[in-house]
Amino acid sequence: MSKIELDVRNLKVSFSTPQGSFSAVNGINFQLYSGETLALVGESGCGKTVTALSVLRLLPEPPAKIIGGEIIYSDSNLLCLSHKQMRQIRGKDISMIFQDPMTSLNPVLTLGEQLVETILQHKNLSKKEALKKSSELLGKVELPSPEEKLKQYPHQLSGGMRQRVMIAMALACEPKILIADEPTTALDALIQSQILELLKNLKEEAGMSMLLITHDLGVVTEIAERIMVMYAGDEVETGPTQDLIKNPFHPYTKGLISSRPNLDSEKINGQRLKEIEGNVPNPNQRPNGCSFHPRCGWAFDECKIKKPSSQNINQNHQYSCHLDPGSI
Ligand code: SF4
Repeated sequence: MSKIELDVRNLKVSFSTPQGSFSAVNGINFQLYSGETLALVGESGCGKTVTALSVLRLLPEPPAKIIGGEIIYSDSNLLCLSHKQMRQIRGKDISMIFQDPMTSLNPVLTLGEQLVETILQHKNLSKKEALKKSSELLGKVELPSPEEKLKQYPHQLSGGMRQRVMIAMALACEPKILIADEPTTALDALIQSQILELLKNLKEEAGMSMLLITHDLGVVTEIAERIMVMYAGDEVETGPTQDLIKNPFHPYTKGLISSRPNLDSEKINGQRLKEIEGNVPNPNQRPNGCSFHPRCGWAFDECKIKKPSSQNINQNHQYSCHLDPGSI
């Protein structure tokens, strides 16, 4: 097994609201290995983005508060570093691509000004050298006429082009870890697949590790080596992508997989897609026991009172459910 780049141990995050305090992430654990892509998958509100923002300590505190756990990177617990130390890590060692490039780019600065600023924050280069590197980066993300693009503003680019600029910015300082939070959500299907291919190639070329946040299992199968499925702030199943897609054990993972459109299926014509009935519970109204029990077709009495612990299918594949693997 390769080296662990990022080790998240028992991470707990809560939010204070006028209605009281609630838990958004309930003590999750995962490791990101050197050179791999790990996908965090689940419906909106399951804690994926909160987890990603916690790694970079970008959650607004208050209302958010990291109330427990450790995030180990390069022998340091990121949760114990000062703001100054974290500023040195963000962008340089760990970078993030955010969901919406239009709101993440500064509308009143040219792309060149934004790229140069990012580079100069972490690299000891002259402005001229930073500008040259910016142009090279735009070429690397396959934007045509990079020199021209540096003089343009974000609104002059299409959504796909803006996302390429965000990727260039995230890669500017050659990070070891790239966090991509729903990087293709706002894009149409063709551009989505181009961006995924680009991310995959750039990751392999640079030897980075990637934490990919998505609700789209189609995205995951193209790019991730491992998947961690989250539900209501908990990790419910983790395993190698192909293993988990072909042999899911947790009822929620099974539901996610069977609700995917499948163009190969003979039954697709005239049939409704299967859905997971009900909704993700509000964070301040999570049920006792297994949070998934009101939506689970296999739920029994114990599920309503006792939270399931993690079981091993094998060394690489775990799930959290009261049922034995053979009984689902
Ligand atoms: Fe369903 Fe019970 Fe398993 Fe939860 S613990 S997923 S409710 S069977």
